[in-house]
Order: sequence, then structure tokens, then C-alpha cells
Amino acid sequence: FVGCSCASDHVFHHKSTPQINGCFEMTTNNNNIDVSSDYNDETKKKQVQHKEDLGLQTFGPSISNLKPYDPSQEPIFPPDLQVNHQKYHGKSLKFVGTTVTWLQPSSLDELIQLKTRFPTAKLVVGNTEIGVETKFKNMNYPLLISTTNVPELQAVSVSDQGITVGATVTLSQMNAELKKVISSWPEHKTRVLSAIVEMLQWFAGNQIRNVASLSGNIMTASPYQI
Ligand SMILES: Cc1cc2nc3c(=O)[nH]c(=O)nc-3n(C[C@H](O)[C@H](O)[C@H](O)COP(=O)(O)OP(=O)(O)OC[C@H]3O[C@@H](n4cnc5c(N)ncnc54)[C@H](O)[C@@H]3O)c2cc1C
Repeated sequence: FVGCSCASDHVFHHKSTPQINGCFEMTTNNNNIDVSSDYNDETKKKQVQHKEDLGLQTFGPSISNLKPYDPSQEPIFPPDLQVNHQKYHGKSLKFVGTTVTWLQPSSLDELIQLKTRFPTAKLVVGNTEIGVETKFKNMNYPLLISTTNVPELQAVSVSDQGITVGATVTLSQMNAELKKVISSWPEHKTRVLSAIVEMLQWFAGNQIRNVASLSGNIMTASPYQI
């Protein structure tokens, strides 16, 4: 990332994707996984099984383009964000890429203003559904508005009336909060919550649950997309 104009907004211009190349390198090994492996050969069968375990089967066609793993390389996190994360904490950010602009407002007012100004912009939280849509379903969202930095949407609040889950609360956060409620409320009041906690352990994996939101899941309404 290069460039940062520091008024109230911080603007990053995306120039290259070293961190993405880095991730690709971390997910492969010297034996280069061959996606055209067939199931007749025992060795290849094991390789394919291994890919399935890693979830790489989903990303089939692009795997053949991956570089071999180089242990001397580390995935690169944008250095400016790493060094200055305190400076950007709670600030409104704008990332400008070649095909996508990413806005990250820092208050509900600002979010509403942006959505009013750009009604066709796509809201994004964990990007676990939108990422799949853009990468594998040829969907194109030139303007994304991330809601993860909006304090009003980050909380889980519990009252006698029920539980309110903010639209950017991750599934992992929600899981932890529901477990607290289950341990302190009478059993007959928490059966639905227990069912949600039980279900969440079958939902994707930790990496996805750590970023994916309930709002993103409701709006996706898989398999019947809204
Ligand atoms: C490997 C993998 C495994 C998965 N496993 C499962 C699974 O087991 N079960 C399952 O149901 N899903 C699964 N998913 C799908 C996805 O992870 C979930 O639907 C997740 O909850 C989406 O949340 P998100 O925050 O990432 O949504 P995003 O991708 O950020 O957004 C999804 C949609 O919600 C909309 N949206 C988000 N927030 C709002 C808001 N506040 N107001 C209006 N619209 C909003 C977005 O505009 C977008 O259309 C999986 C995905 C992956 C990649």
C-alpha cells in the first residue's frame, strides 16, 4: 500500500499484492498440488484427500498457479498498518484499488451518510461470502463499505427482554456471549441459545467464525440468497 492522505479520512492506494502472494506461498509446498489429480492413483488420491482436508478443493482451478513454498518468505502485512495501527484505530479509512474501493466509516452516522450517497455500494463485514462471490461467481462490487469499525454495531447486549446482537459481531464473539448467558440464566430460558451454540461448532472453521457475522449470514440466506 502506498500513500496516505491524513485529513479525517485515511486513503490507501493499492499498488501491488505482496501479502496475497505471501499467503499463496504459505499454502503450498515444494510438491506443488496438482488439481488435475485423478482418483485412480492411490498417491494422487491421498493428495486430493489432503486438499479436501485443507478446504483447498474449493479453490481448485487457481491452485495450479500457486508458487512453491519458500520458507525464507513470510506473508507481508502492510507495514504502514502494522507500524501505525494505533494511529488508524477508530479512524475512517478508504482503500483505493484498481477495481475496488473499500470505505470503512467509524460511526453509524457516517455509515448512513455513505449508504445514502452510494446506495448501490455493498456492505461488508467478514467478507467470507462476498469474497467467494467475487472470486468464484464473477460478481463485481466496485464499492464496498465495511461496517466493522462502527462502534454502535459491535456489541451484544443482554436484558430481561432478550439478547441484541450487533450487525458486525462475529460468530465467535456471539458464541462466547451466548455461553455466558447460558451459564447464568435458568435452563428453560436458554434452550434456543444452546441450540445456536451447538450449531455453531459445525459452522465452517475458527478462521471463518472469527470474522463472519450473523448479519452477513442472514443476508446471504444460503441457499436462498436475498
Ligand atoms: C470456507 C467457508 C465455509 C462456510 N461455512 C458456512 C456454513 O457452515 N454455514 C453457513 O451458513 N455459511 C457458511 N459460509 C458462508 C459465510 O461464511 C456465512 O454466510 C457468513 O455468516 C457471512 O458473514 P460475513 O460477515 O462474512 O458476510 P459478508 O461476506 O461480509 O456479507 C455477506 C452479505 O451480507 C450483506 N450484509 C452484511 N452486513 C449487512 C448489514 N448490516 N446490512 C445489510 N446487509 C449486510 C452483505 O452486503 C453481503 O450481501 C462459509 C463460507 C466459507 C468461505
